[in-house]
Amino acid sequence: MLKPPVYLDNNATTPCDPRVVAAMLPFFTEQYGNAESVNHAFGRAAHDAIEQARRQVAACLGAHPTEIIFTGGATESNNIAIKGVCKAFERDGGHVITCCTEHKAVLGPIDTLKAHGFRVSCLEVDEFGRVTPEQVADAIEPDTRLISLMWANNEIGTLHPIAAIGRLAKARGVLFHTDAAQGVGKLRCRVDDLGVDLLSLSAHKLYGPKGVGALYVRRREPPIPVFPVLEGAGHERGLRSGTHNVPGIVGAGVACAVADADIEEEGHRLTSLRERLRTILFDGLEDIILNGHPTDRLPGNLNISVAGVEPEPLVTGLRTVALSSGSACSTGAAAPSRVLLAIGRTPEQAQRSLRMCVGRFTTDEEVDYAGEQIVKHVTRLRRTAAVAS
Ligand SMILES: *Cc1c(COP(=O)(O)O)cnc(C)c1O
Repeated sequence: MLKPPVYLDNNATTPCDPRVVAAMLPFFTEQYGNAESVNHAFGRAAHDAIEQARRQVAACLGAHPTEIIFTGGATESNNIAIKGVCKAFERDGGHVITCCTEHKAVLGPIDTLKAHGFRVSCLEVDEFGRVTPEQVADAIEPDTRLISLMWANNEIGTLHPIAAIGRLAKARGVLFHTDAAQGVGKLRCRVDDLGVDLLSLSAHKLYGPKGVGALYVRRREPPIPVFPVLEGAGHERGLRSGTHNVPGIVGAGVACAVADADIEEEGHRLTSLRERLRTILFDGLEDIILNGHPTDRLPGNLNISVAGVEPEPLVTGLRTVALSSGSACSTGAAAPSRVLLAIGRTPEQAQRSLRMCVGRFTTDEEVDYAGEQIVKHVTRLRRTAAVAS
């Protein structure tokens, strides 16, 4: 039976899978040892569980377990990747390449580098939100230290051509980081095929717990120069000190294993659910446009701009459907999404947008219900606006 509200905000976060929760529970109350206390059974159990999770995360990425560093989430992984690599070049400074549609968890650390004298090329995107390998090639300079480009965009779902950019980065000898928080667990990930040297992921975006993530750091000779952001007792090979979040890490491992097991089939199911929602909206409403690439996008993500309605009542009036809008209310005042502006939308179109994302627990019935509710709501708002004017 359908029980509104329907959750269509899986790009913001996902519920924990019950299999993940079940695996985590013993590590709160029974196996509560400190993973460093390997001289007794409690500590060894925690230590072994972390190493098991490391193997699960590595398998999901096509990586080796020694290449996985557990962190407090993708924000922290991005900070280590970006600031940690550039710290190695602190004395000489240099140049980094990123893109204007990145998550703030990338743009924030990049701003800090700028303040420390690094030069930054922030690439523009095309109408779908993509950069081309040619743009990246043209931006590379003799002292380019790092390229950081996200795999999948969290607002419009668009995928960058990461594998082609990875080949280019390798050929030019430049380190390549990707924020893969939206991609891992949704798209088959093979770090060698993607050609990345560093990759960030977040457990809560793939049906794992909040506050835990991982950073993949490629093993190679000479080693990739990464400095820690958090210093202390030297956990995670010195890259992330602090007592391990054992239940969280166990959850992250199981979340990766569960997602990876049927990733292609689930991808097809989510794509068809998303297309089902798109059809309902485009059949039921005039004057709406799709944001992001029509096919080269995350399976679950749909983003549309709706003409002729005010941005505020568009989202807040929809009480039975949980989704997000293109106006980021970070400081109280609703600023239009910079991602939508970057793909050429007007400030008005950017504010009058809806981001929806179906997920593992979304049903056909929920999609039909949500689609009908959105059509009804927009139609009503438009009618009111027409009467008022
Ligand atoms: C959610 C998200 C993050 C932040 O991840 P946290 O684990 O919440 O810190 C970073 N980048 C992208 C693309 C995201 O979607």
